[in-house]
Amino acid sequence: MHPFKLLRHNRPKNSRWNNNQRNYGAWIIAVISCPCLMGWGFAAHRKIVDVAIQHVPEPLHEFFKHHRNWLVEHALDADLRKHSVIGEAEKHYIDLDEFGISEYDSMCLPPARWDEAIILYGEKCLRDRGIGPWNVAWQYQRLVEAFRSQNQRRILQCAADLAHYVADLHVPLHTSANYDGAASGQNGIHALWETQLPEAYMDEYNLLGPDLPISWSPHCVDSIWDVIIESHRCLDLVFNAEKETMEEIGETNAFSYTIRGKARQKMRSEAFISCYHGKLNGQVEQRMTRSIQACSIYWYAAWVQAGQPQLQEQQTNKSRLDALIEWLKN
Ligand SMILES: [Zn+2]
Repeated sequence: MHPFKLLRHNRPKNSRWNNNQRNYGAWIIAVISCPCLMGWGFAAHRKIVDVAIQHVPEPLHEFFKHHRNWLVEHALDADLRKHSVIGEAEKHYIDLDEFGISEYDSMCLPPARWDEAIILYGEKCLRDRGIGPWNVAWQYQRLVEAFRSQNQRRILQCAADLAHYVADLHVPLHTSANYDGAASGQNGIHALWETQLPEAYMDEYNLLGPDLPISWSPHCVDSIWDVIIESHRCLDLVFNAEKETMEEIGETNAFSYTIRGKARQKMRSEAFISCYHGKLNGQVEQRMTRSIQACSIYWYAAWVQAGQPQLQEQQTNKSRLDALIEWLKN
């Protein structure tokens, strides 16, 4: 979904921002003044949270429905943090292809346990390649703790963050070092797949899918490893269909200039989007639907694992500016 992900390789992989580089003032100005930060490219994330609320079983459904606007608004918080929080960017992806292919032509996965993965690869290497699936497990545990504390504000923030990270890992290009097609001469494919296609077609999708079985397991979050494998297997179609579309449409008709926020950007044309979407044969709809189901299941499982606490209503009428000030103070 997000153009910000493109930032991750724009700086040296091993760089770390120091405190002096955390320019809070610039961050505030960027958030408040730049419409592209707040107004476009994130429609799919918002939609996923919105539909996941409809999907989640009671009593979470009632509780989240009551806070629907807050949750949908904060579906993007994790991306906004990439500009200001050290170590945030690598939580949104994993470059699975960097781990290689086994002699049987199957993917080599790093260990699901973080401590074992560090022993095998070292923490720096893992963070360079992205820590998406481990982070989902940590965020899930944060949500369990939030439910136990019965702190409504915390529950909502953790639920929004978990949904964001889970949704990101359903995007095929979040599992590849060639995340924007630079290595295959297909630059811009990231925004094409996760922003342009959902914006053009998601209102036509049947995103609710089948009813979820009301079941849970304390290990259900381990399924995030199946999710990244599924996402990675979608990549051949993602790249091949783009290539075929380019050959059919031709370079001159493949691009057009679009106004997004205050910026004029060269992006794939409507004709290209239509042709490419057809060739993907429901892939974007399928990945969005799976994202929604996973969000609902993980939310519900976290609540059950926390002991099914009563969800009491507390005041959450802080504005985004109040929340920002509180965050800066912390
Ligand atoms: Zn993200």
